[in-house]
Amino acid sequence: MTISTALQNTDDLKKNWSEVQMKLKEIYGLDVYKSWIQNVEAKETKHNSLTLVVKTRFVRDWIVSHYADKILDFFQKLDNSVTRVQFEIHESFYGEKGNQTNIVDFATGSQVADSKDAGYAANRLDHRLTFSNFVVGESNQLAFSAAKRVSETLGHYNPLYVYGTVGLGKTHILNAIGNELKKTDKKIIYLSAERFMYQFVKSIKNKDTQKFKDVFRNVDVLILDDIQFISGKEVTQEEFFYTFNSLIENQSQVIISCDRPPNDLDRIQDRIKSRLAGGLVVDIQAPDIALRLQILKNRCKTEETYFGKEVLINDEILSFIANEFKSSIRDMLGVLNRIIASSRIQNKVPTLQDAKLILKDLLNNMQSVITIEDIQKLVVNYYNLPMSDFLSSRRSRHIARPRQVAMYLSKKLTTKSLPDIGRKFTGRDHTTVIHAIKKVEELMAADKKFEYEVQDISNKILKSN
Ligand code: ADP
Ligand code: MG
Repeated sequence: MTISTALQNTDDLKKNWSEVQMKLKEIYGLDVYKSWIQNVEAKETKHNSLTLVVKTRFVRDWIVSHYADKILDFFQKLDNSVTRVQFEIHESFYGEKGNQTNIVDFATGSQVADSKDAGYAANRLDHRLTFSNFVVGESNQLAFSAAKRVSETLGHYNPLYVYGTVGLGKTHILNAIGNELKKTDKKIIYLSAERFMYQFVKSIKNKDTQKFKDVFRNVDVLILDDIQFISGKEVTQEEFFYTFNSLIENQSQVIISCDRPPNDLDRIQDRIKSRLAGGLVVDIQAPDIALRLQILKNRCKTEETYFGKEVLINDEILSFIANEFKSSIRDMLGVLNRIIASSRIQNKVPTLQDAKLILKDLLNNMQSVITIEDIQKLVVNYYNLPMSDFLSSRRSRHIARPRQVAMYLSKKLTTKSLPDIGRKFTGRDHTTVIHAIKKVEELMAADKKFEYEVQDISNKILKSN
């Protein structure tokens, strides 16, 4: 697709919404996505307002208090006419679909499968997240050993509390424990704290809290992910505390993850905090470069076995990714996936330049941003022009053409808008920029030599960055 056709594409509500959903899934994880986001539909955008349709008041309230800001943020990036998000509650909007979907049993094996009667929707362990594919480095060594220990000897550390910022492997570790214990005859429940709350509140509404309690009190192992979400809600905290205490008293194993240490949980009662800290508290820190590289290499291997086809991503690209994406393993792996996917689609071994292009939008949010000024400088050098001529209003071809090339590359290699680009070219109008882009695309299609020239400049810019 050329840039000019892309520009002409009208905003597609469905497409935008599903893109926002994917973004939310990326940052909040699969649990949150499935519990709250997946079933929300976008109805319309009208009068600067995006209307979303949800099934119940409860879901609406939850989304409003937890995710509405992010939803608006993300949506605005795709459609900046929207300034508000509003909700409609349509119990029947989903038709029959709603009655059938999402009834997943609570537990991971048949042991607690009875809870299906309760109609609980819950999370399952992800069988792909195991100890054997968890790469150990200095930053996660403690958490890894503790988790292994617990899976070998239940109750050794109780509760086990694992904390660290988002994307560092908490959910992976928790699932690894669960998957290990699944091989035994232990009754396990794994779920996110949000789900726990959701189930609890629902059981209050349905007046079957007893069932809820029974389900939880009869397990050998309770694995609760992202406990930070429990803060604030008094009733659920009470229930959680109650469940938690009775489990520990029965010597059932409790494993918890959180984005911060127990003491930093605000709006959680002190007695709960001290209970949480009463077993072993371990943290996962940001991975160093060696660990990041190893995780990338392992992931390439996994992809190979999964697809039965070699993944042709060279070391140069892997170390580029490892160097650029430091703070979240999830983000880093997302980036790798994108490059792998793109090389599959294009059936091509990507070069570093290809990789940078594929990641253009991400890289532009980071330190190594390509600026319009960078592009202008390189183009001016390439054509050996004085910058003053280049930025002047002169229209003779030997100046105008390079200027058009620079505008074209500014659109292609940065995320700047057309008016922004125009402004950087001594206050030209955005229509001038559109004209330049079209012109360059036409010339490139008609003239191989010119196409090569533009490609060459583009590569030089990417390399210099
Ligand atoms: P968190 O729950 O802390 O936000 P996740 O457990 O979801 O993070 O990890 C994010 C992604 O990174 C997952 O795909 C996970 O499998 C992967 N990951 C994290 N740490 C490691 C590791 N040490 N080895 C292999 N993969 C990892
Ligand atoms: Mg997680």
